[in-house]
Amino acid sequence: MPEWYEIESWIITWAPIIFMGLLVFFIYRTMKLMPRTKPQQIKPESASSISWEDVAGADEAKAELAEVVEFLRDPKRFAALGAKVPKGILLHGPPGTGKTLLAKAVAGESGAQFFSQSAASFVEMFAGLGAARIRRLFAEARKERPAIIFIDELDAVGARRGSDNNSEREQTLNQLLVEMDGFDSAGDLVVIAASNLLEKLDPALLRPGRFDRQILVSPPGVAGREEILKVHTRSKPLASNCDLATLARQTSGLAGADLANICNEAAIFAARARRTQLVQADFDDAVERVVAGMQSRRALTEHERRVVAWHEAGHALCAELLPGVDRVHKISIVPRGSALGYTLNLPEEDRYLKTREELIDHMTVLLGGRVAEEIVFGAVTTGASNDLQRVAEISRSMIHDYAMGTSITSRKVSAHGGEVSDRTRELRDEEQQHLADEAKRAATKLIVEHRDKLEELAAQLLRNEVLERPDIERIMAGTQRFRRGAGGLRVVAAEPVQPPVSGAEGAS
Ligand code: ADP
Ligand code: MG
Ligand code: ZN
Repeated sequence: MPEWYEIESWIITWAPIIFMGLLVFFIYRTMKLMPRTKPQQIKPESASSISWEDVAGADEAKAELAEVVEFLRDPKRFAALGAKVPKGILLHGPPGTGKTLLAKAVAGESGAQFFSQSAASFVEMFAGLGAARIRRLFAEARKERPAIIFIDELDAVGARRGSDNNSEREQTLNQLLVEMDGFDSAGDLVVIAASNLLEKLDPALLRPGRFDRQILVSPPGVAGREEILKVHTRSKPLASNCDLATLARQTSGLAGADLANICNEAAIFAARARRTQLVQADFDDAVERVVAGMQSRRALTEHERRVVAWHEAGHALCAELLPGVDRVHKISIVPRGSALGYTLNLPEEDRYLKTREELIDHMTVLLGGRVAEEIVFGAVTTGASNDLQRVAEISRSMIHDYAMGTSITSRKVSAHGGEVSDRTRELRDEEQQHLADEAKRAATKLIVEHRDKLEELAAQLLRNEVLERPDIERIMAGTQRFRRGAGGLRVVAAEPVQPPVSGAEGAS
């Protein structure tokens, strides 16, 4: 029989050890009960069923990606010649334009393994796990070359750093950069990423050797929309009254995903009506349902399209006729980003100094849109607010900064800044108004005198939605023209989408 004090010392010796043991056991068991923290398997996805045939109306993006397909099919051919092929490709453009679809088609066409991950899944996890997951993703893909790593919704990790101070996101982004730098592009491993907005991405991602090949996937034009509708009605029995060309015209501003949705809704309407074929009315109902369900990406009504067409034609006409502004490169009435339509100019050369006449010419071009609306429709819309704002900015700096007013007063007061009297301010406002009026008179004169060209520009725009330089030259033939040159593109006028005005179609 042991003494009582022996038992006591036994307990004192062993109790803490037993307690620790139990603790370890319970912690271990709890960890086993949390399957989420266990590393998920990373496996290639099957995308072999998707081909170029499934992607319509994105010809430019397809042409660029066709090259990538070639690398993946036969990497040795390029390596043998010492060709360095791009390893990072960024598809950017509005949602629903087919970026994910294009990436899958590259996999389908090339037969490469397709490792697809949404960047959002990297940041939802616990600290450090996102980075680990990226490491494993690259490690797995490297084993199965030729392979494509597709990172969807790159914005989730790739947004500019410092904007939200999320250290987990930053760690993940850094790991991605490390992995991008870490592999040699032998052409058999390509990283494709998709993003809605290029401007939002961290510039580090776009450096050479990373996502240095950027492909814009823009919303389809009228011809593209028709092609997409054809793709999505391929396996659907259509009645002979179905007119996809008209449908394409009515769906200006919609992306591929919306059109796919319309075709599906139409099939549902037809099935509910127990028809064996889809009829035109099914499509009309479907358009209504899909368009009404979307506020931001709206399709324009026929009247709105006309207003935008004449408005842009007004800008373009003035730009083509005036010596102090650049030639028009492209006019479009396909709503894009925040603009309903836009006119792109090609600057002849980089210039930092402008004369008074050139500034007036620029204001004339800006006002050309609104003046055309006024002359053709007898009413102006809210669509010109961006133009008017820029006219105000130009005329303001002409008076306040450059002293380009007509009266001596404005010159004198502009010379010494600081406090100004009410009288001076009034004078300056008047001067600004004079400049704007001068530009407006010029725009009116140009448009009235070249009304035939305006009508032709607008009609062609309505028909084709986009006019390129050669089209514009053809239409403007016979009018006076000025020198042209090379340079970067610049938006001279864009119509931002306005909240709908109560009453008739935004006209005021
Ligand atoms: P994104 O990734 O640009 O948001 P998705 O590739 O996810 O767009 O497109 C969603 C769906 O919309 C596709 O699965 C396809 O059915 C349809 N779609 C989008 N663009 C096109 C297109 N250019 N041609 C055919 N279908 C398209
Ligand atoms: Mg997508
Ligand atoms: Zn405009």
